[in-house]
Amino acid sequence: MISKILIANRGEIALRVLRACKELGIATVAVHSTADSDAMHVRLADESVCIGPPPSRDSYLNIHQIVAACEITGADAVHPGYGFLSENAKFADILDAHGITFIGPTADHIRIMGDKITAKQTAMDLGIPVVPGSAGEVLNDADALKTAREIGYPVLIKATAGGGGRGMKVAKTEADLLEAFNTARSEAANAFGNDSVYMEKYLGKPRHIEIQVFGDGAGNAIHLGERDCSLQRRHQKIWEEANSPALNVEQRMKIGQICADAMKKLKYRGAGTVEFLYENGEFYFIEMNTRLQVEHPITEAITGIDLVHEQIRVASGGGLSVTQEEIEFSGHAIECRINAEDARTFVPSPGTITHFHAPGGLGVRVDSGAYQGYRIPPYYDSLIGKLIVHGRTRVECMMRLRRVLDEFVIDGIKTTLPLFQDLVTNPDIANGDYDIHWLEDYLAKTSV
Ligand code: ADP
Repeated sequence: MISKILIANRGEIALRVLRACKELGIATVAVHSTADSDAMHVRLADESVCIGPPPSRDSYLNIHQIVAACEITGADAVHPGYGFLSENAKFADILDAHGITFIGPTADHIRIMGDKITAKQTAMDLGIPVVPGSAGEVLNDADALKTAREIGYPVLIKATAGGGGRGMKVAKTEADLLEAFNTARSEAANAFGNDSVYMEKYLGKPRHIEIQVFGDGAGNAIHLGERDCSLQRRHQKIWEEANSPALNVEQRMKIGQICADAMKKLKYRGAGTVEFLYENGEFYFIEMNTRLQVEHPITEAITGIDLVHEQIRVASGGGLSVTQEEIEFSGHAIECRINAEDARTFVPSPGTITHFHAPGGLGVRVDSGAYQGYRIPPYYDSLIGKLIVHGRTRVECMMRLRRVLDEFVIDGIKTTLPLFQDLVTNPDIANGDYDIHWLEDYLAKTSV
């Protein structure tokens, strides 16, 4: 059994995990940098430890300091949240060596899914449909030309160690190919210290649809339906929905079952997300995230299942609390990511929140560590909160979102709230008629 959890993260997700621990009667330890001493998760935790100066590499990414904080406080488990050390296999190994439970999958599974080529190969072996592409790394110009001819143009060159959309280049025709290939390689070398790249068919108008999976580590696994995260800017998700406006029940259950069966074969442990591009009725695997996602609350809203409770339960060896048959999907949920950024230029806007009023009412959830007087430090990502709205139907959900956005007040800094006020009244969004390029096209058209 787990009796004390150290939360190796900050911001809204640290608070999210802390709330789950409190509900389960588990003691909490917050860790923080010197820039986060007055953060909400630090104030609400049973104990807190300062682990270093503001830069993440000296604090939230400092494995040595985090293990020391576990030892000082007697924490017997670590929840990594998302980002930071959540997909760091070495961290999972080190905790294991210290007899501390890592609330997440095995280090081996993190490693397999962290490398795009082994992830794709594993997905194929497990029966998950993948994007047509090279069998592995594309080694040189001749290999690139041959592979692209086999796949058919347009093609996309992607970094094996990729993340955050970096090191990706499209080649529309053979004339563009070698330049795209060599640029992608040097970008990958600069961003990841690894110039290995692979090639995929470039899909023109796909949606991003991801399946939430959960495994007990012993061969039992379930899926909790999908999330549609097609509204993106620079590969960053902005607005997510569950269910996807593009899928019907049969499609949902079919792709969900394929993923759950794959996780059974893998003996996957804990929460995971299998990400797909979806075009013309077909799913194409792009990657798997071996952690809790930012957008997990919309799945919680439509299933009523607390995913962090479930993660802690599985990590304690308690198995899954529900069977596939017991999971019911109810209504529709939308999440808006509220960033401390200008809603048109997306330039970060750190500073002090002079007034903060969160909306309420039926079907409304605000996950945020922000409060009146809180100073947003400039050192970390700009997500300051998430607004999650649930309704019995998509139409009800959208009407509620419109109402709730008008109630939300965050003064003193710029936020992305005005963007959502625009989107919620847009006819394409109302019809669920958008793909992964829609938001950037819209922003380009409406720029002032
Ligand atoms: P990263 O780990 O860098 O985020 P992903 O493989 O998850 O890389 O892809 C990020 C985004 O890039 C996707 O959400 C999609 O918008 C785009 N993308 C990736 N693969 C393809 C593809 N084969 N065709 C078209 N777009 C793609």
